[in-house]
Amino acid sequence: MRAASAVALAISGLFLSIPAQAQNKDVSKPVVLTGATLIDGLGGKPVADSILVIEDGRISAVGDAKSVKAPAGAEVIDLKGKTIMPGMISDHSHIGIVRGLKASPDNYNRDYILSQLRQWEAYGVTTITSLGLNAPEFYDLRAELHAGNVPGADIFGADRGIGVAMGAPPVAIVPVGPNQIYRPDTPEAAREAVREMAGRKTDLIKLWLDDFGKLLPVKVKPEVYTAAVDEAHKNKLRVAFHINDLEDAQAALKAGADILAHGIRDKEIDPPTIDLMKTGAAWYVPTLALDDSNFIFADKPQVTADPFVNRALDPAVKTQLEDPAWQQKVHDAPGSERARKALAMNQKNLMTLYRAGINIGFGSDSGVGLRFPGVAEHRELDLMVEAGLTPLQALTIATSGAAKLLKLEDRGVLQAGKLADLVVLDADPSVDIANAHKISAVWHRGRPVAGAIATFAQR
Ligand SMILES: [Zn+2]
Repeated sequence: MRAASAVALAISGLFLSIPAQAQNKDVSKPVVLTGATLIDGLGGKPVADSILVIEDGRISAVGDAKSVKAPAGAEVIDLKGKTIMPGMISDHSHIGIVRGLKASPDNYNRDYILSQLRQWEAYGVTTITSLGLNAPEFYDLRAELHAGNVPGADIFGADRGIGVAMGAPPVAIVPVGPNQIYRPDTPEAAREAVREMAGRKTDLIKLWLDDFGKLLPVKVKPEVYTAAVDEAHKNKLRVAFHINDLEDAQAALKAGADILAHGIRDKEIDPPTIDLMKTGAAWYVPTLALDDSNFIFADKPQVTADPFVNRALDPAVKTQLEDPAWQQKVHDAPGSERARKALAMNQKNLMTLYRAGINIGFGSDSGVGLRFPGVAEHRELDLMVEAGLTPLQALTIATSGAAKLLKLEDRGVLQAGKLADLVVLDADPSVDIANAHKISAVWHRGRPVAGAIATFAQR
């Protein structure tokens, strides 16, 4: 099969019915993408009239038209007028938790998770991190996706993660099964939980330190999370903390947190906390879309009419979001006002940390609440730009920055030797971040896997 016809088939929706073997054979023939404006993911000035050569699923050469020669016999695809950027990478998502309007342990199953991963991929997110609440099925799925044996975004993850009985993560929001979370009560039980997760070869450890605005009666005890971090570090694993408050963020950093998996949303971040982040070389994943998702569909009901959002919605969710009574109730809820303030504080703190040179990761906490896979990541980009980052700075965080958080050296950048995970857009998102919605095609490991969002259908 020729690559150009593969693009046409992807758009018509037939591509996915072609056996994987036929697709793999194709990978050996070089493909050359010419004429596009190229965003490398490292923040460099976009390259006009670029050439990008794909061989065996990887980028073998890339640069401007004058400096790179197309190999003989290659399939050439003219992308004049388009823009290419690396596939995005989420450092904070969840899989198999919410389906439609219902969160249930039953949602953690292979078919549903693969359908979610297909959606992320179609929206240009080619790698995600399932940051906790994973059932044992996670490991087989991860192996298959790492090998490229099944369609969908690649996954990394934080096994079950550590919370506390009667506390976070709240069963009312994420009613997961007993094999999806640890709630240890003693330092020794926390160490044992970490050793179990290390034994399964988790990528990261997740820990929840939050009482959700005093909604929950308890938080993980300091001796428990301190032991968990110590044991994780002994096992060469990094720990991502769910936090909301400045005080908890400080406590987490003092205990050795490697990643703050949410922004600080109750107070302005202060110099001592910034120093703690610098000392520990800690990462910060703002998840601006989290609070935004709690009010945006009520405040701006026209959002769901946007076909870019519409395509990602389960029918039951769509019905709810379009119900004027639901919109009014959510708009007026005290929680929505708190969320608006939390988002504003989060955006302010993001800019303070960015200017201080702190490592910023990318994630929207997609896959939970009303953060729909793919759409939530694009919303995160919009909110980062609204906070004050340039579109190129936001895109750099969503690609090479997010890869660096995960210590992935094979993706997030359009350079020779890297995986050919890329998004082809009809317009340049470095000029206007809204152009990131104008997806023409998504390539994953050197193959076209999706076309325009208008052709995407949930299964
Ligand atoms: Zn989360």
